[in-house]
Amino acid sequence: MKALLLEAHGGNEKLAVGERAMPSPGPRDVVVKVLAAALNRLDLFVRNGMPGVKVPFPHVPGSDACGTVLAVGAEVTDLVPGARVVVQPGISCLRCEFCLRGEKSVCLRYEILGEQIPGTFCEAVAVPRENVYPAPAGLTDEECAAFPLAGLTAWRMLVTRARLLPGETVLIHGIGGGVSTFALQIAKLAGASLVIVTSRSAGKLTRAKELGADVTLDSTRTDVGREVRALTGKRGVDVVVDSVGAATWRASLQAAAKLGRIVTCGASSGPNPEEELRTIFWKQLTILGSTMGTDAEFAALLPAISAGRIRPVVDTVFPLGEARAAYDRLETNPGIGKIVLRVG
Ligand SMILES: [Zn+2]
Repeated sequence: MKALLLEAHGGNEKLAVGERAMPSPGPRDVVVKVLAAALNRLDLFVRNGMPGVKVPFPHVPGSDACGTVLAVGAEVTDLVPGARVVVQPGISCLRCEFCLRGEKSVCLRYEILGEQIPGTFCEAVAVPRENVYPAPAGLTDEECAAFPLAGLTAWRMLVTRARLLPGETVLIHGIGGGVSTFALQIAKLAGASLVIVTSRSAGKLTRAKELGADVTLDSTRTDVGREVRALTGKRGVDVVVDSVGAATWRASLQAAAKLGRIVTCGASSGPNPEEELRTIFWKQLTILGSTMGTDAEFAALLPAISAGRIRPVVDTVFPLGEARAAYDRLETNPGIGKIVLRVG
């Protein structure tokens, strides 16, 4: 089968479409014929190399997929070949103390498709049965591929970790990427009374308005922390979604209301901002980490997507053979929403 192969860490020159053996399912696995697969920032980290994450080369990247069932293992009795499915990319051991509590995203042996194990940028991928869900009808393959990782991550951040309540106020830094775009829609769906988003791009802010943002702030021209306080009568917001890190942390602390929650799932601008402990204890803030999500969260996200209450936003679609161009676009990040590879 055709697969995008990463032969070593580095730039796009390390990526090429090549041949790989067709996967065969283990007893509890499903082989999915991949039709569309979305890129995530994780794919850039995997290409570049991450401290502590060992990748067996040549490696197939890619975490998200929509496709059809090609084959099932002997113990899989509830899925038939041809069924249209999406793949939830977090693989858990099902046996550790966290898995037994249903907290699969903190599994002691947690792996993500395309990170430590072969991923979805190929014509077929074998995954455990429990990672396969019905694809929402009414969405294109590309839209279906665009939501699993980013939608799940955003859902856990706002619903489970920050416990966002109707009527609360939210700040989302750096609108445009998958997680922030889903976070905006999930915050509105959860009944947030005010969702403020920031970006350095006027085009992204215009698009964010269409997706439901109440207030948009150009972070190149605005002191975001100060402006959020002004917009909220010096109170600040209940929840801050910060996946930017070093560049936005100070604004997050400033923008958070007393007893506010700051939830982080990434640090694209750097992982070591000044903590400002005085602000944290004086305002009695809660700092929440979050990554990926659980089966229950994915199962809760799915009907919201199926009902069209959360719409996966697709920025561009590239054929698998033009994956390097897709990576380039992800890196330069000019659009809003997900970049998707058309595979099948
Ligand atoms: Zn586990």
